[in-house]
Amino acid sequence: MEPFVRNPMNQTQERFELEGWIHLVPGLTAGFTSRSGGISEPPYDSFNLAYHVGDSPQHVLENRRRLAETLGFNPETWTCGEQVHDTKIAVVRKNDRGKGYADRSSAFQDMDGLVTNEPDVLLTSFYADCVPLYFLDPRNKVIGLAHAGWKGTVKLISHAIIDTMEREFSSNRAEIRTAIGPSIGQCCYEVDEMVMGKVREAVETIGATQADYEAHSLFAPSQHDGKTMLNLKELNRIIMIKAGILPTHIECTTWCTSCHPELFFSYRKQNGVTGRMASWIGRKVR
Ligand SMILES: [Zn+2]
Repeated sequence: MEPFVRNPMNQTQERFELEGWIHLVPGLTAGFTSRSGGISEPPYDSFNLAYHVGDSPQHVLENRRRLAETLGFNPETWTCGEQVHDTKIAVVRKNDRGKGYADRSSAFQDMDGLVTNEPDVLLTSFYADCVPLYFLDPRNKVIGLAHAGWKGTVKLISHAIIDTMEREFSSNRAEIRTAIGPSIGQCCYEVDEMVMGKVREAVETIGATQADYEAHSLFAPSQHDGKTMLNLKELNRIIMIKAGILPTHIECTTWCTSCHPELFFSYRKQNGVTGRMASWIGRKVR
């Protein structure tokens, strides 16, 4: 069953909620935005949530404020990093709340992962085809997000965040829940041999076998010579299983961001000039 439930409750701000996690920790909310419900103009129409794409900063700020308020968070608790397709993880403490909300310079620099055990912090990260990863340790109430494009995926950002959760917050990976959110599907994700070389190195590093590839339909033939259709979501699933996450603790979406231009910004579909959706996770204390 699709874990990211489309929520058309409010037509002007459609979003995808990770409903199965709501009951694991009181006050938890996690999900992924759609492109609708904001005030940005084309090609960022309309719910662009990232500053770096060239949109009006005032529009981005208003869109962020709307999302935070809709989720029941003070907008000033919005916390994010400047993403660079690497594997550094920011540990978010109470005093870090609000970093990156109003401008790029206050964000955690060069950070593709965020993890915290603080309540009333809205962690966010930004996407147009890359894979949003979500992490939850229900016992210690630790939450995290990681941005995994092909680079972050093959550099094993999910291992980096799981290690950080154990080191900083005494999490136990046998208890950690993860989710793989809306992102480009194998249907639309054609890669070249340069990328495939890095993918093969990564699967070798983690000890994946031919049987693993086949069980997860990691690769499919492309209609173009020298190209492969890569299943980046399943690659992340295998990487997390090899890290010790229980297969039953991994949720994976079926949504493809490139197949649904009416719902999602897609870097590939819109030739690089487009807005960004946000993944979010936060725990409210009332
Ligand atoms: Zn697709």
